[in-house]
Amino acid sequence: MLVLENVHTHYGKIEALHGVSVEVKRGEIVSLIGANGAGKTTLLMTVCGNPQASSGRVMLEGRDITREATANIMRSGIAIVPEGRRVFSGLTVEENLHMGGFFNTKAEIRKSQEHVYELFPRLKERENQRAGTMSGGEQQMLAIGRALMSKPRMIILDEPSLGLAPLIIQQIFDIIGQLREEGITVFLVEQNAHQALSLADRGYVLENGRIRLQDTGKNLLNNPEVREAYLGG
Ligand code: ATP
Repeated sequence: MLVLENVHTHYGKIEALHGVSVEVKRGEIVSLIGANGAGKTTLLMTVCGNPQASSGRVMLEGRDITREATANIMRSGIAIVPEGRRVFSGLTVEENLHMGGFFNTKAEIRKSQEHVYELFPRLKERENQRAGTMSGGEQQMLAIGRALMSKPRMIILDEPSLGLAPLIIQQIFDIIGQLREEGITVFLVEQNAHQALSLADRGYVLENGRIRLQDTGKNLLNNPEVREAYLGG
């Protein structure tokens, strides 16, 4: 579904990705783990075309999107949940959801909204609450809910567990597992290696802008190098 082939990405003269190849197949959850500054966010943003890859190719459902404008890529069935759950804090839960359905008809928005409320009953309870007054976990649910409003075939999540309490993290990961059950392909970027690899069909380890390891989630969890560097030994 999504293929990165030998992708190099630069910020000015600085190269942040040094020839990265990653594949996410339809219906999979693929997790990318790596330390601070490894290039995880850069990789996701390269998929979205901002910044664009300086060389290599990004393919989405067989189409080359390497040079495509971000706005077009975002209308191709991909939705992204950026790091830091950027919800519109002055808007209510419902208004935030409607922003996510921007390209859809009213009837589609209503249907997607009902679906999001089934997945996250907490959001339904807080429909008229302003997003900025909700807890971190609730805001993360809203950020995911908003991404789902466009009925994506693939969802990309940048560190959804960042700064959340363990119980909430578990809830968020349960929901991500549920998305796969609904046929949505998931590409997950995480520092929380244990949870991310436990859930993933396959995983990649990114180090200093290069893929260092790739395997099934289960094998990576048992890999001594991964255990040592990312799972506390
Ligand atoms: P974190 O987990 O801390 O978010 P990350 O793995 O997502 O880290 P990136 O944010 O992709 O890493 O950063 C990779 C490298 O690219 C870092 O060296 C960073 O300083 C650099 N970088 C990221 N964004 C920019 C930018 N806009 N301009 C210049 N350099 C950047």
